[in-house]
Amino acid sequence: MTTTLTATSTGEPTAAIDRASARSFVDAHVAPDADAWDRAGRIPEAVLEQIAAAGLWAPFLPAVHGGRGLALSALGLLHEEVGRACSSVRSLLTVHSMVSWALMRWGAPEQIEHWAPQLAAGRVLGAFCLSEPGAGSDAAGIATTASPRPGGGWTLTGHKKWITGGQRAGLFLVFAHTEHSTVALLVPRTAPGVRVTPIPEILGTRASMLAELEFQDVPLGPDALLGPSSFASGAVLSGTLDLGRFSVASGSTGILAGCLEACARYTTARSVGGTALRELQLIRAKVSDMVTDLRAARLLCAEAGRLKDQCDPATIMATWIAKYFASTAAARHAAEAVQIHGANGCGPDYPVARMYRDAKVMEIIEGSSEIQRITIADEAYREWTT
Ligand SMILES: Cc1cc2nc3c(=O)[nH]c(=O)nc-3n(C[C@H](O)[C@H](O)[C@H](O)COP(=O)(O)OP(=O)(O)OC[C@H]3O[C@@H](n4cnc5c(N)ncnc54)[C@H](O)[C@@H]3O)c2cc1C
Repeated sequence: MTTTLTATSTGEPTAAIDRASARSFVDAHVAPDADAWDRAGRIPEAVLEQIAAAGLWAPFLPAVHGGRGLALSALGLLHEEVGRACSSVRSLLTVHSMVSWALMRWGAPEQIEHWAPQLAAGRVLGAFCLSEPGAGSDAAGIATTASPRPGGGWTLTGHKKWITGGQRAGLFLVFAHTEHSTVALLVPRTAPGVRVTPIPEILGTRASMLAELEFQDVPLGPDALLGPSSFASGAVLSGTLDLGRFSVASGSTGILAGCLEACARYTTARSVGGTALRELQLIRAKVSDMVTDLRAARLLCAEAGRLKDQCDPATIMATWIAKYFASTAAARHAAEAVQIHGANGCGPDYPVARMYRDAKVMEIIEGSSEIQRITIADEAYREWTT
């Protein structure tokens, strides 16, 4: 697959990065060690630097801020390629992209000038901080608060959990309640009162360096607020989640592609009773279902990406559907990929066990499958009963 990533929605020069180059980067620098990183529970610093050198952290940022002006449809293709090899790296790219995109979309010029070049170059990594010990699907249930400080600014107090990249990120996009609304705040890791505790041994995306964050009366200036104070911050939250969902849909499509590749290789090499697995009809049925669902997931992601490039609000529902389909298909086929590998699928020598664990996580993050079904059905009834 050599689709060229040339589209740009920002008028910036066409980016010199394409799906083929992303694929070679991933094959050379990500795929060979993804299982080792999974076992170690982290991505080595040298790899984070290689990702920066390849321009992959936030290539959609405008060239004037150090990005490549890449269209979001093209970003989806990149995240599929990375997800094909390593969902932990793709997860880090997802949350970094969410923070970078929210900054560009709603940041004041000074905020953009300060943070965008650092995010584009990967000198600072971003993390998205919504979930808490007592609130996940129910975003309105968060207990973190931002109280106005005399003379301007905010005091941030609260506890965030399951924060991808939290162990390593330098900039946290934190959602908190004020007396009247919800705000999105840019919180540097170095701010006084920020405490980071690693979460080890998560089921999937084990190398994505998850953390719990505690904010103990963290003093923030007025410049921490993303978007004007009168602004309905729900738009920041839903817009940022939509981008994350698109990235996870693309990454889940990548898991499907990774499972298919692994199964094609394995069933060609492995024989039972003198017959190659690939000649068995039941195996071929599983492979053909993978091929079909991979094609469908790609088309759904492509539609969501195209609508994003056109700034069409229909992208929101297209992204829900793409993420629901791609993540559930990835989980289903990753389970079959393990089955096809037999005991080898349960051991450390083949990537499908990792993909199986990673795929399960995709059904939970960025809107669980249940929440997606509720949302998709709501939309269906709006469309067909009014
Ligand atoms: C690996 C990993 C990485 C993560 N990274 C981040 C991150 O970077 N930033 C961040 O903010 N969060 C992150 N999360 C948290 C993630 O967003 C939440 O886990 C997710 O939103 C679900 O919330 P919850 O776990 O609290 O489940 P709950 O909201 O408690 O839901 C529990 C179950 O009930 C179901 N459910 C909930 N409401 C309904 C309903 N109305 N009807 C039917 N069923 C329902 C859910 O689908 C789920 O199956 C991460 C989680 C994981 C596992």
